Amino acid sequence: MTDTLQTLVQAFDRMAAAYELMARRLASQIEQLEAERTGLRAQLADFSRHQSALLQSNQDLARLTADLSGQVASLQHRAEEVTRQDQLKSELLATVSHELRTPLTSIKGALSVLLAEDPPAPEVRAEFLGIAHQNVERVMRLIGNFLNLTRIEAGQIGITPRSLDLAEVLAAAVGRMRGLAAERRVSLDVETPPGPLPLTGDPEMLESVFSNLLDNAVKFSPEGAPVIVRVEADVRAVTVHVRDRGPGIPPEEVPRVFERFFRGSPAVTRRVPGTGLGLHISKAIVQAHGGRIGVESRIGEGSTFTVTLPREGPPQPA
Ligand code: ADP
Repeated sequence: MTDTLQTLVQAFDRMAAAYELMARRLASQIEQLEAERTGLRAQLADFSRHQSALLQSNQDLARLTADLSGQVASLQHRAEEVTRQDQLKSELLATVSHELRTPLTSIKGALSVLLAEDPPAPEVRAEFLGIAHQNVERVMRLIGNFLNLTRIEAGQIGITPRSLDLAEVLAAAVGRMRGLAAERRVSLDVETPPGPLPLTGDPEMLESVFSNLLDNAVKFSPEGAPVIVRVEADVRAVTVHVRDRGPGIPPEEVPRVFERFFRGSPAVTRRVPGTGLGLHISKAIVQAHGGRIGVESRIGEGSTFTVTLPREGPPQPA
């Protein structure tokens, strides 16, 4: 019995020793696993740090790409603008040289006659000085339009508004056109309300608008037909109608007459000098004053161009 018990105790001792060994091994394995888990956690933290850095760089890259495409688009736009300006310059140069030749030839001819006759008879003197003067006016109108066009195209229409009397501006424009009207036997009638027509605007620019409208009305009128300038005014605006009994403008051309370089069909414009710039420039000037310009026309009956200008002048920049 004692032997049996002793054997049992020894067996328990061995089992206990074996368990202790197993427990130690397990503990060391757990320790190792813990260490691995800590290592893994550190790697995971590293990984997410890298991941968010990558995400950030991705976003930076997307922003850079968008920036770059924006820059490419604006460069393309600029290149197109330069090409457009270049075309405009060539067209303008061709028009300038062509349109200046006729009045300059007339001026030269008139001066040659005056120089050849010494002294010229009074009626010859009056006639040829008249021709020279009228053509100088034409050259000045053309150059004024060319300069204004270049400014408009550069986005600097350059209105210098001040207090003015529109009746005086109209009288000046009509006065400049009297020579051409007389030559074409076109009467120029002005119907304005009595007294001044005060408004805020740029007198030189507005005079060039009315010179362009009167130039068209006179040059498209048949001999002997009247051109009538009629003015209506109220407290807020002044409206000027320039009416002629010319050929009229075909309905399909009406929406285009204010386009740059637009000239009507050769049937109407062949014998009439022009650049296709006057109305385009006039519209830009009227709009810069906060006003409106339009036309009503009937084939065979004539055209009426109407300009409405607000009394208070150009709108204030916001
Ligand atoms: P331009 O008179 O130098 O040709 P504008 O810009 O002043 O240029 O006019 C553009 C076109 O509009 C003219 O070529 C013509 O066809 C038409 N037009 C303008 N005014 C009149 C008018 N009073 N009567 C008939 N056609 C006109």
